Amino acid sequence: MKNCLVVDDSKVIRKVARHILESLNIRVSEACDGRDALNQCQNAEHDVVLLDWNMPVMSGMEFLQQLSSINVARPKVIFCTTENGLGHIRAALDAGADEYVMKPFDRDILESKLQQVGVI
Ligand SMILES: [Mg+2]
Repeated sequence: MKNCLVVDDSKVIRKVARHILESLNIRVSEACDGRDALNQCQNAEHDVVLLDWNMPVMSGMEFLQQLSSINVARPKVIFCTTENGLGHIRAALDAGADEYVMKPFDRDILESKLQQVGVI
């Protein structure tokens, strides 16, 4: 069973993502900011990280930059953005994100992104 770390400061987004991912037979853990996510990545391996950009404490971008400095098997990273964050996509891909998805996302789009990064 693959596992996904859902990183978002919105409890509602985490809940929606969890629901979709579990329906795709993926085990889910949640982090509420980049720092929390980094700690969890140091403690357990994840196949994929679904990553929000704007979060308190540590942003998605800072998480991406620090992920490469910790000594773990690197998860695939799908960066989540809103239409307002379109300009962030290039920066996220440059910083090592594998794919991106626009919010609000649905099951079909998330499934196709997970296929594109080879998780399912
Ligand atoms: Mg956010």
